[in-house]
Amino acid sequence: MQFGIIDPREALKVGDTLADIEEGINANCWTAGVIMGSSELGLCRDEVEAMTESELFERKKQVHAAYYQAGADYIIEDMNQLPGVIADINQRLAMATTRKLLTPGPLTTRYSVKHAMLTDHCTWDDEYKAITASIANDLTKIAVGDESSEYVTILLQGSGSYAVEAMINCLNDKDDRILFLVNGEYGRRMVRMADNAGCSYELLNFEDTEAIDCKIVDNTLRNNPGINSVIFVHCETTTGIINPLKDIARLAKSYGKKVFVDAMSSFGAYEIDMKAFRIDGLASSANKCLEGLPGLSFVIVDRQIIEQSKGKATSLCLDLYEQYRSLYEEGGKFRFTSPTNILLALRQAIDEYMKEGGLPARRARYIKNHTTLVEELRKLDISPLIAADIQSYIITTFELKDIEFTSFYEMLKNNGFIIYPGKLTTVPTFRIGNIGDVYPSDMKRLAEVIGDYLSSFAIRCYYSDPSV
Ligand SMILES: *Cc1c(COP(=O)(O)O)cnc(C)c1O
Repeated sequence: MQFGIIDPREALKVGDTLADIEEGINANCWTAGVIMGSSELGLCRDEVEAMTESELFERKKQVHAAYYQAGADYIIEDMNQLPGVIADINQRLAMATTRKLLTPGPLTTRYSVKHAMLTDHCTWDDEYKAITASIANDLTKIAVGDESSEYVTILLQGSGSYAVEAMINCLNDKDDRILFLVNGEYGRRMVRMADNAGCSYELLNFEDTEAIDCKIVDNTLRNNPGINSVIFVHCETTTGIINPLKDIARLAKSYGKKVFVDAMSSFGAYEIDMKAFRIDGLASSANKCLEGLPGLSFVIVDRQIIEQSKGKATSLCLDLYEQYRSLYEEGGKFRFTSPTNILLALRQAIDEYMKEGGLPARRARYIKNHTTLVEELRKLDISPLIAADIQSYIITTFELKDIEFTSFYEMLKNNGFIIYPGKLTTVPTFRIGNIGDVYPSDMKRLAEVIGDYLSSFAIRCYYSDPSV
């Protein structure tokens, strides 16, 4: 209070007794235990000098172990090591507070979400299983709009790709024919998954800079009556294109096909009413628009379809049907060790989502982030590559022109922003994601930093021009 420090994590309690460490921990401070000259060591200078080296070493080892058991964050030989400890804590605090990931997953998350990880939980514990079940119910509610029992949410260990692969592997019969609609890397990844699973499919490729064209899809479906399901990416994170989900689903349904979607970077930020849009299954993950941590993904699927998928999986770990049975018949139990801390963080992230105001509020924030970003960068003569009518408000690809990416990246990192390189092979680009715990003010600040960089660059060129 004297120093005006509000967050106890900005204070370090240094002590020479176990009680000191306990005090620090109870006050939620960082703690450091000092070994030499400490009450814990209990030796005066003469006694230390009279000891052999190995005797002293044994005594110090005991003190070290006692501090460690008491929970000390740092254990130092003597006070000379304190500045190093302080520098280390400062670095950790700076990393935690100032860095903004403008990458769509993993992304910058709220402190409360990270904090939720601090509880260690056991997988089969009833309280934990209830939390797991509550997450599944909430995600179904986000996808369907009510407590519908027609859809279920199957949580799965692993990043988003694991859920996509499970969806492709388990929800299609081996003699089914899939139609893949592809306009980016994530679409191509799904085709590789189908290859590995031995699925049979048709492939419709579109340019990476164009949205999926329903007219072409219509033609293909008309000419290929043997197709059973249509699979595509909603928001192609490769470029930031948003594909016409509702139109594609309506079209596929008019031909009686099943519809499966990779809604990884759109779920929670775009309206996806699975029942109204008649989507049979979608895959997404904790670490995109839900703003949770990476390591946990999920498939939301029509209950009838999952009920009929027993024995279809060619993978043991990615067997969605078995995971579904375990989760729904055993009250929220994962088959294998679940990512407990990440799951607790997702519980908190969904609570934050509701607190913010659900889909309308999150969508509004992302739209504001996106428009601020585009407007501010346009002032610097940096323009989006994708046409505005098919551009999502999740991630935007910009032309690099004569900016060199590696030094640009380093400069932004030094200023607390992490960005993605572009994924297009035709034009040099960079990508800025605007999801996560980021706000229009962050977009303004980013543009300022880029503006400063470009003008310092211009000045350097000017002075180094020998004709000037
Ligand atoms: C993030 C993402 C994925 C999943 O990628 P992971 O690296 O497995 O998290 C899949 N599809 C899309 C469109 C994505 O944005």
